[in-house]
Amino acid sequence: MRVDVLTLFPEMFDGVFSSSILGKARDKGLVSLNAINFRQYAGNKHGTVDDTPYGGGGGMVLKPEPIFTAVEDLLANRSDQESAPRIILMCPQGETFTQKKAEELSKEEHLIFICGHYEGYDERIRQHLVTDELSIGDYVLTGGELPAMVVVDSVVRLLPGVLGNETSAVTDSFSTGLLEYPHYTRPPEFRGMKVPDVLLSGHHANIEAWRRQQSLLRTLERRPELLEEAELTDKEREWLRKLQSDKS
Ligand code: SAM
Repeated sequence: MRVDVLTLFPEMFDGVFSSSILGKARDKGLVSLNAINFRQYAGNKHGTVDDTPYGGGGGMVLKPEPIFTAVEDLLANRSDQESAPRIILMCPQGETFTQKKAEELSKEEHLIFICGHYEGYDERIRQHLVTDELSIGDYVLTGGELPAMVVVDSVVRLLPGVLGNETSAVTDSFSTGLLEYPHYTRPPEFRGMKVPDVLLSGHHANIEAWRRQQSLLRTLERRPELLEEAELTDKEREWLRKLQSDKS
């Protein structure tokens, strides 16, 4: 996969793109991660990329020319075999980013992220350039850099070969439609707090059953709305119904 991030602050990506799992994925050649300063596409000698809004009001608006030109430059350098990239605008008004979206994006060959700053973007960027608009939640940050890092991290960790243990992403919270079960490690008892017996039993079927039950319980307690979409057996639905009616 190739990831290009258009930003006014490429240095913000240095640590994130070269550390930990993303850094290793890059070193192994599983992903190419590039932060590109779109100020170089300003097309004027002062490198101006923003201007005051038509109609007045506070804040500066990112101009269309530098961002359109930067994207066109990336598109021009593609080979004929490559599929069209997804061009993703980071934006608090966009679709809320989810694990499902991360899975969808992890199947692409090329992602281009556009990070805004200041008051916002010229609307023509949103209307005529991008394929997706993504928000990482209902709050406003100073720029799209942190949101782009969040999305890139969650997408890249899903690429084959990136995580050491391939199964670890499969059981993650949301991948299964449920929250993940609790984890324990050595020692079996710490300050009187014990690891559940079943996990020490070595009985794989019982461990699997316990984990599934814990996953269901945790989802019921913390994110009950997820259960409506999750794939559950009739027996599991009945068990959850009973738990709920016992509680009320
Ligand atoms: N005036 C804009 C509005 O009300 O929608 C907010 C602009 S914000 C200060 C500047 C930039 O930060 C945005 O253009 C976007 O790139 C990024 N940003 C801020 N919050 C975000 C979020 N929750 N998700 C994704 N991007 C965000």
